[in-house]
Amino acid sequence: MWGDKRYHSLDWELRKTFGSKGIKLSLDGGFTCPNRDGTLGTKGCIFCGQKGAGDFAAQRSLSIQAQIAQQKKLLSAKWPQGKFIAYFQNFTNTYASPNHLHQLYGQALAARDMVGLAVATRPDCLPQGVLDLLECYAAKTYLWVELGLQTIKPSSAAFIRRGFDLQCLRRAVEELHARKIRVVVHLIFGLPGESNEDQLASVRFVAGLGVWGVKFHMLHIQKDTDLYSYYRETGFPLLTRDAYIDLVCDALELLPPAVVIHRLTGDGNKMLLHEPKWSLHKLRVLSGIDQELRLRGSVQGAKALNA
Ligand code: SF4
Repeated sequence: MWGDKRYHSLDWELRKTFGSKGIKLSLDGGFTCPNRDGTLGTKGCIFCGQKGAGDFAAQRSLSIQAQIAQQKKLLSAKWPQGKFIAYFQNFTNTYASPNHLHQLYGQALAARDMVGLAVATRPDCLPQGVLDLLECYAAKTYLWVELGLQTIKPSSAAFIRRGFDLQCLRRAVEELHARKIRVVVHLIFGLPGESNEDQLASVRFVAGLGVWGVKFHMLHIQKDTDLYSYYRETGFPLLTRDAYIDLVCDALELLPPAVVIHRLTGDGNKMLLHEPKWSLHKLRVLSGIDQELRLRGSVQGAKALNA
């Protein structure tokens, strides 16, 4: 159904849409986050590092054009026919005035071969003016908006200091859908105190939202975070690679086939990652997921309600 994969990968979706490899260029628009600047809190989410949620984004001291040029240079050799998506990844990429956002997004989209725009943000940072701006971009480019839900368990949401509730997330998804904007939701597996059932409940919730895409992350203990101190104090159990692979396969079975899988495992920053070390071997995790789905004779959506 999806090339050689048993799940609906973003790579497959972008190749189908653009006829060639879609390459995301991770950009840093110089944003902060209400969870860090004192509006909601000063410490940020417990797992969030000094560079925000996007450790692989380009240098924020460079202009958007320079960031794009730098990344294209690195990636074009590998995929000369590639099409590019400007991915505003670091911190909260709608946390500014619509005018300022318009300038940044516009600069990024003006680059050659830029066919789309991806914006990572929080559901409580989508005021009317920003939604209207995003609606305009949705009409002229291939746009998606990413929202970091991570979990639906209230105690976990408090533990990670997420700072918004499910109602807020639901409202944001509805507002974006009403404007025909693709929505991607992030989930984290391996949060302390979450059972398999808790984690799959979050997946069922996301499946029920009717969103376009999902991104799965394994909880990373990064050295520049409060989570690192908490882990050193408590030594809470982490998922093994096999347990993570099993969980991701269970999750994929629950998601409708139409949902685009943006990520199955994160790229930890080698210098900062404390645990789990196995997550650095991304290809082993991905091939483990392929193998497990094959062994099960299963595919994405095999257990989805509307599959
Ligand atoms: S919302 Fe995102 S950028 Fe803000 S503190 Fe949490 S993870 Fe970091």
